[in-house]
Amino acid sequence: MTSTFDRHPNPPATSASVPADGVETFESLDPATGDVVGVHPVAGPEDVALAVERARDAAQWWGALSFDERAEHLLTWRSVITRRIAQLAALSRSETGKPIADAQLEIALAIDHVAWAAKHAKKVLGPQNVSSGLVMANQKSTVEYKPLGVVGVIGPWNYPVFTPMGSIAYALAAGNTVVFKPSEYTPGVGVWLADTLSEVVGGIPVLQTITGLGPTGAALCTSGVDKLAFTGSTATGKKVMAACAERLTPVVIEAGGKDSLIVDQDANIAKAAEAALWGGMSNAGQTCIGTERVYVHERVFDAFVAEITEQAQGLRAGGDAGAHIGPITMPSQVDVIRSHVQDALDRGATAVVGGIDAVGERFVQPTILTHVPETSSAITEETFGPTLAINPVRDMDEAVRLTNAGKYGLAGAVFSKRNGMEIARRIRSGMTSVNGIITFAGVPGLPFGGVGESGFGRIHGPDGLKEFTYAKAITRQRYAPPLNLTSFKRTVRDEKGLNLIVTLLHGGKKTLKP
Ligand code: NAD
Repeated sequence: MTSTFDRHPNPPATSASVPADGVETFESLDPATGDVVGVHPVAGPEDVALAVERARDAAQWWGALSFDERAEHLLTWRSVITRRIAQLAALSRSETGKPIADAQLEIALAIDHVAWAAKHAKKVLGPQNVSSGLVMANQKSTVEYKPLGVVGVIGPWNYPVFTPMGSIAYALAAGNTVVFKPSEYTPGVGVWLADTLSEVVGGIPVLQTITGLGPTGAALCTSGVDKLAFTGSTATGKKVMAACAERLTPVVIEAGGKDSLIVDQDANIAKAAEAALWGGMSNAGQTCIGTERVYVHERVFDAFVAEITEQAQGLRAGGDAGAHIGPITMPSQVDVIRSHVQDALDRGATAVVGGIDAVGERFVQPTILTHVPETSSAITEETFGPTLAINPVRDMDEAVRLTNAGKYGLAGAVFSKRNGMEIARRIRSGMTSVNGIITFAGVPGLPFGGVGESGFGRIHGPDGLKEFTYAKAITRQRYAPPLNLTSFKRTVRDEKGLNLIVTLLHGGKKTLKP
């Protein structure tokens, strides 16, 4: 394993979980109890710059490996994560508060993505022949997708494994090295990921985790990385994009959402209610692609509300093992949730489950509101809590219109026996599941990302691999061209030949009538 990385005889720790004396630190806390889970260094601009420099060195080795060699490493990493899933899930639970089973589900999905990216990178990104067309028939044309170099990844806390891995795994499989800044609420998970990959690749900093708060992320934006993949709130996404503009660093923005679930009159009401409940309440509602709004055909509205109210009985937030959902991970979000519920109630909404008293200090109990005015913040802004706003609609045109009226466009769901696909296609969002909830996230071959204020760019699938590359086009002359067009030795015969070919190819039937 020789590379310019030899310039760094002591491979840097991929994590900095044991801060040196005098280093500024921050604590990650268990949101259910307030207990300290870990103490981590705050990486300053110099630390970030050093990490990027190391990543650039490591990229010379990693980027020069064949797709098969990289796949070998990534598939080993996949197995290591799988065999230690209980360890990672426990860490994720202690930093986010989510139930262990939810942590494991999230990690399992992420593992599947690592495997998919590793196995498909060669086919998606390797050299492909492209037809040269008649004018350039003497050329052999190929396109291939080259790694950008070093990719910076900034992640959120709500799915601290799954969300950043959508960028990390795909960027790595494409041949880039990665500097990862996890959320300040889940730094331990970020450190764990980098440490395990480091074990697999013999300490070479293919993936480094730098810990810190917002300014550490901001430093990564201006560090000279070749692309910045951000997952987090829309407000921060705008700052990231502005910071990256300074060096023309391209960005992927995976931001917030306000997804709706649409229920048509022919839907299976029990299944739709079950899905809406999971979509809205799982992970305590802290899911970018979670359900926040539900639009139900007026003919089945009462039946739907009765069904979901019934199914919500016994659903409980708590810190104990028997609780279905955990605490609100980010303490400041509790005030946002409270204000959205209050605003809806003040404007005439009805709480059929929970209500303002359901919003506690650390935990929010499931809350379902009906007849929520479309202008209230519970409809227009991301609530990010275990709440649902359910409104009746006259028909599916109204459901689609209201769904598309918001500034976000991340995902969504439709329940209908006959018209699911047709309704799904009309929703302005990056992903929609029909008669299911969040199912697209578990299909590694599908692209993941939004439109509007939910961001742009795609992770996952072939699009996700290409997102972390640049397209390289090559034409190779196979034989001398019959027409010598790109030369000052061009003759009148060449020019006439071109005119003839172009007329034959493109001057045909579809033209203006005299
Ligand atoms: P956030 O925007 O507060 O923070 C995200 C990350 O950005 C953190 O690591 C934070 O330290 C960093 N950061 C903060 N200020 C920064 C700055 N000025 N420059 C660079 N980085 C900075 O978001 P969050 O609260 O961690 O996550 C929740 C949000 O993420 C929700 O809005 C949710 O919808 C969204 N999200 C989106 C997706 C998606 O795929 N679209 C997935 C998960 C979460």
